[in-house]
Amino acid sequence: MNNPRILFWHRKDLRIIDNQALIKAFSLSNAITSTYILDKNYSHDFNANSRAWFLGNSLKELGNNWEKMGSRLVIGEGDPVLIIPQLAKTIDAKIVVWNKSIEPYEINRDLAIKNNLKEINIQSIESWDHLLIEPSKIFTGNNKPYSVYGPFYKNLKSKMNFFGSFYEDKIIFHFKDIDNKLKENQNIKSSNSVLEKFLKNIKFSGSKICPCRPGERAAKILLENFINEKKIFSYNSARDLPSYNGTSFLSASLRFGTISIRKVWNATLNLHSDFENQENYLSIETWQKELVWREFYQHCLFHFPELESGPYRKKWAQFPWENNNEWFQHWSNGETGVPIIDAAMRQLNSSGWMHNRCRMIVASFLVKDLICSWQKGEEKFMEILVDGDLAANNGGWQWSASSGMDPKPLRIFNPYTQAKKFDPICKYIKFWIPELSKVSNSDLLNGEISNLEKNNYSSPIVNHNIQQRLFKSLYAEI
Ligand SMILES: Cc1cc2nc3c(=O)[nH]c(=O)nc-3n(C[C@H](O)[C@H](O)[C@H](O)COP(=O)(O)OP(=O)(O)OC[C@H]3O[C@@H](n4cnc5c(N)ncnc54)[C@H](O)[C@@H]3O)c2cc1C
Repeated sequence: MNNPRILFWHRKDLRIIDNQALIKAFSLSNAITSTYILDKNYSHDFNANSRAWFLGNSLKELGNNWEKMGSRLVIGEGDPVLIIPQLAKTIDAKIVVWNKSIEPYEINRDLAIKNNLKEINIQSIESWDHLLIEPSKIFTGNNKPYSVYGPFYKNLKSKMNFFGSFYEDKIIFHFKDIDNKLKENQNIKSSNSVLEKFLKNIKFSGSKICPCRPGERAAKILLENFINEKKIFSYNSARDLPSYNGTSFLSASLRFGTISIRKVWNATLNLHSDFENQENYLSIETWQKELVWREFYQHCLFHFPELESGPYRKKWAQFPWENNNEWFQHWSNGETGVPIIDAAMRQLNSSGWMHNRCRMIVASFLVKDLICSWQKGEEKFMEILVDGDLAANNGGWQWSASSGMDPKPLRIFNPYTQAKKFDPICKYIKFWIPELSKVSNSDLLNGEISNLEKNNYSSPIVNHNIQQRLFKSLYAEI
């Protein structure tokens, strides 16, 4: 068939550049119309105000990019199982093309759509795009999926030195739009108003201070800044300091696919000849390791979908959580009386983003000091995080709770020791808790804030040492 009409379905790939399924589609035809569906059964993409903001603005830019190239982005809302086949039929598409997902719900949904399309004689084509390597291309020596990060990293790294360079950055597409007659179709005509309504309903107050920026263009700039300002060369030491902008802020861009993981990885390969000393070299490698943590958790969820609803280490299902709701609310609101915890939760609540070191500290505190189930924390993060991603968030929480794939049996962070190490001059704490700005750093770090200095700031709701002992005794029972 010559130049068949194709419906291209954007999901976690809100970009034109280096989009594997789109490259595939374009190799078959230039008569391509694209779509994005606000899936009423899959709210992860927009059920946090911050993610709705990121998504809405990324879609706006994506729509403009399609128009500049002579086509359009049709935005729909509802159930893609019904809408995708309907839309494909409406525009007389012969093929529907999309990039694969690793999340259990999306895999099942896509299967249903494939079947529906088949029934009406429309072909479907899927590609892998969201990952550095397809899940079926990396296994242990025993041909099993990896469940430990270290060997996964080693294997992937050896493969990436070869695969990493395959990304396509400068493709200029020229599309053919649908017929004028079809433009009058109601589904297509109402597309603009769906996005307008969505954008109008966004209630995210942190858009100015959120370090993640929506859209393909902003993602490119974030990557360029991280590399050109040479932040990547000091990442090894700077990445753990929450008061310092030492990380890339690319998490939401990677989550929504406004940039390709191949482009990001490739940027690290191109640098290897530039480094001046050992710290530079280590820093590039450490950043690559973080990108591989993202990859690892995606592969884990793909191979072990049960992670979505329960612990990897089964014994944790029996843990007698206290789940004290009052404590949970204090934690959520940044009112525990433990400065590093409260600073971090206030950063999250205000900006929709939290520094990685602080994510680990607050997660450990919720689970191991407040004895609240990690699933409650996981859910809370998903309600707020701009980069909220099922695989990364679940992986991070299970790692912090010690219920996941971390080979270390039990990890407990002391929030005071962590603050001393990673916020030694209390810059981060004092920024997010201004009422403590006049307290001496040593009093703050030791948790000895006098009543006079408190300025309405609360006393710690729990004692770390007592709670740690209690947690260990409960852990011994399982
Ligand atoms: C409890 C907990 C929950 C988390 N929830 C999420 C989440 O929902 N979404 C999310 O993207 N990340 C999550 N992370 C991982 C990490 O905190 C963020 O990816 C990181 O802080 C984002 O900042 P950045 O883009 O500046 O990262 P950088 O330090 O610049 O790292 C580059 C990229 O690597 C990836 N990455 C880095 N660290 C990790 C990690 N530990 N696990 C997985 N990927 C990583 C991200 O895509 C990130 O953008 C979580 C971590 C913890 C401990």
